Amino acid sequence: MNDADLNPAGTADAIPFSTAALLQDVARQDYPTGALYVVATPIGNAGDITLRALNVLALVDAVACEDTRNTGQLLARYGLHKTLIAAHQHNEREVAERLVARLRAGQRVALVSDAGTPAVSDPGARMVEAVRAAGLRVVPVPGVSAAIAALCASGLLAPQFHFAGFLPAKAAQRDTALAALRGLAATLVFYEAPHRIVDTVAALQAGFEPTRQIVFARELTKLFEEVHRCALSEAAAWITASAHREKGEYVVILEGAPAAVAWDHIEADRILTILMAQCPLKQAAALAAQITGQKKNALYERALELKAAGEASG
Ligand code: SAM
Repeated sequence: MNDADLNPAGTADAIPFSTAALLQDVARQDYPTGALYVVATPIGNAGDITLRALNVLALVDAVACEDTRNTGQLLARYGLHKTLIAAHQHNEREVAERLVARLRAGQRVALVSDAGTPAVSDPGARMVEAVRAAGLRVVPVPGVSAAIAALCASGLLAPQFHFAGFLPAKAAQRDTALAALRGLAATLVFYEAPHRIVDTVAALQAGFEPTRQIVFARELTKLFEEVHRCALSEAAAWITASAHREKGEYVVILEGAPAAVAWDHIEADRILTILMAQCPLKQAAALAAQITGQKKNALYERALELKAAGEASG
């Protein structure tokens, strides 16, 4: 994060409360010693830090962080200078032991990641587990999460969401992971690395119904933030319409499967397609009826439709 990420235009001259007074309230809460504080930090805009997070970061004896340079710079923006402990995915176990020793000595330690909420598609879970296993206290200090920020701007109505995080990098494993999500009615939330967005969109288009809605939440809270929603069939065209869209940080949100009845049809189609490749239509429909419990005649009709669609598309 740097100054270019911040929008210089949107200043608020009159905030109708005293930040200092509020900080005093925050400071009156109990902040036990010998505890690990899991602190969410901004995902772009340094202003997205909570007052409690600032208070905890000011209070702790040390901050365990993914990248000491990043976190040192972030803390400096808040006027804080702390002992930093490098805690990344390659040394989590070893650092966990050091954290437990510090906590046993009565210290307060904060755990932060490079951006957003630690331990969510970020290092931290192992350290939290070790601290809890040692019988020590873990205190969440909630704040920004890229997934939630994207979800709240998506306008998708499903009451549940499924956080899928990062998809596997290898195509075969990624496609298997996606196939397992096809039947979920919950909204699907993915994180994606900038260099993989084009491939991921292609995989989504191949694996899901083209009418599903997709939401791209790009560069959230930064100067060039974009939240774009369209039909999945239009997704690749949106990405390639502008060169800058192949860069930047993305949360990708995909509408869940249609209602359960529709899912039954999707599953029946999948089974029919496999069986039709191996045996005559009538037999395929009869076997599909046994597998799915659906009516044989309806499945036979559907098999005829699928055959005709297959012949039409060559
Ligand atoms: N733990 C963090 C959280 O929950 O917010 C996420 C860390 S994960 C290593 C990084 C991924 O989060 C990125 O690849 C992207 O998918 C998403 N992300 C982080 N910052 C973002 C932003 N400003 N806009 C959109 N997505 C972002």
